[in-house]
Amino acid sequence: MHNAYSKLFLLIDGEWLSADGRDVSPVVNPATGETIGEVPHATRADLDAALASSQRAFKTWRNTSAYERAKVLRKTAELLRARSEDIATKLTLEQGKPLFEARYEVASSADYFEWFAEEGRRVYGRIVPPRNQAVHQLVRREPIGPVAAFAPWNFPAITPTRKIAAALAAGCSVIIKPGEECPATALEIARALHDAGLPPGVLNVVFGAPAEISEYLIASPVTRKVSFTGSVPVGRHLSVLAGQALKPITLELGGHAPALIFEDADLESAARILAAGKFRGTGQICLSPTRILVQKPVHEKFLDLFAKATEGLKVGNGLDPKTQVGPISNQRRIDAVSDLISDATARGARIVTGGQRIAGPGLFWQPTILADIPTAAKVMHEEPFGPLALVLPFDTIDDALEESNRLPYGLAAYAFTESARTAIRVGKELDAGMIGINHTQMIVCELPFGGVKDSGHGSEGGAEGIQSYLTTKFISQV
Ligand code: NAD
Repeated sequence: MHNAYSKLFLLIDGEWLSADGRDVSPVVNPATGETIGEVPHATRADLDAALASSQRAFKTWRNTSAYERAKVLRKTAELLRARSEDIATKLTLEQGKPLFEARYEVASSADYFEWFAEEGRRVYGRIVPPRNQAVHQLVRREPIGPVAAFAPWNFPAITPTRKIAAALAAGCSVIIKPGEECPATALEIARALHDAGLPPGVLNVVFGAPAEISEYLIASPVTRKVSFTGSVPVGRHLSVLAGQALKPITLELGGHAPALIFEDADLESAARILAAGKFRGTGQICLSPTRILVQKPVHEKFLDLFAKATEGLKVGNGLDPKTQVGPISNQRRIDAVSDLISDATARGARIVTGGQRIAGPGLFWQPTILADIPTAAKVMHEEPFGPLALVLPFDTIDDALEESNRLPYGLAAYAFTESARTAIRVGKELDAGMIGINHTQMIVCELPFGGVKDSGHGSEGGAEGIQSYLTTKFISQV
């Protein structure tokens, strides 16, 4: 065990429940292969206790004023900032990303808690002029009820936070199942909420076999709303379960983001920004720019600059301050990336740089760029979710837009251009929920985060983020 890593628990009805008497699964540091912890799996009785406590807590939390709820959320933000170094270290140990990214993630989570603390105070209803003056017509926005939330392992702080902060601000209670691979970070967020005075049961944290837990929680009559971040196939499955139970679901699923480099772009800046953006989180980010489409006259020059910027990235253990790219987080993604590269090269794609696993006990992979990729290659259809960029040429803006919108994904898209006319056109015509022009930094609490098409529906930040945890009621009184 690493001494900076903590013992892992379930949090049910305000009690920290240890692994004693429960099944466990190992938590492995992807940079070293070392087992650093054991995460307890919730039993059926634990899930029943979590549901009962979530139902009880909802009754009091919904009737706690938004002003009081905001105090707890703001205090949570303060505690997260004060504990940032400790939480970021745990995050790096279990997820692998460099410490500077982990610190950014913790800081960003604190921002989300503050943002939603204030958004909760701006949930307004309205009074509608009546047809008959004796009638008083009131439209109320009310918390939807207990939420079942499922968060992944790639952003172990931000993904649970976006769900928890918005739901709690709205007055909902939450049962969250974070990723089993990265449990300590989510537990630290829960601990900050607990220490900030969140009443028992308003947030329950469970771990276990994902499919069993989601099926049970979604079907329970206690649950009124579902939220999931993860892959398209799992999102589709949970959407069916939620549909059968007639419960609304917010889905933030995968992406295969295009990045369009027009001939008038600042190529050096685009190459630098895309190398940092692509290999951030070792490419295990749903927003990651993947299909880099470059206008033909500047294709070779850009490829050269992009390869140089990529080769300059330092791969290593995230705890090393010099590291810019950490390990891949789990063996599943190593296998998937390796398979996508073999398939593409077998079909004629060229490896511009990288392409190999780096020897050692950890799960390190060279940042990889492919060129001359035929459309039939699997990687042109499947999200690589790893350190793999594809560079492809295009002739006209119409061609670039057609290729960009070809896939069923629609999460993020990027364009690099100095032309306002081009920027406006791509902003309008790219099928994506989030579009970055001349940059890739899109995760900010005050902006809505979410996709279209197979990338999901609903928004998790901005003024929109709280809406999915609210329902509308009208009261008409004579
Ligand atoms: P996966 O499809 O096995 O799992 C994706 C996530 O869903 C994991 O966190 C997993 O614990 C959870 N999950 C799986 N089955 C579940 C179920 N039945 N109920 C509830 N949760 C369930 O894939 P993976 O190998 O863990 O991750 C890689 C894929 O996931 C990538 O292709 C990527 O598209 C996607 N992903 C997307 C995001 C995102 O931010 N949108 C985050 C992580 C993973």
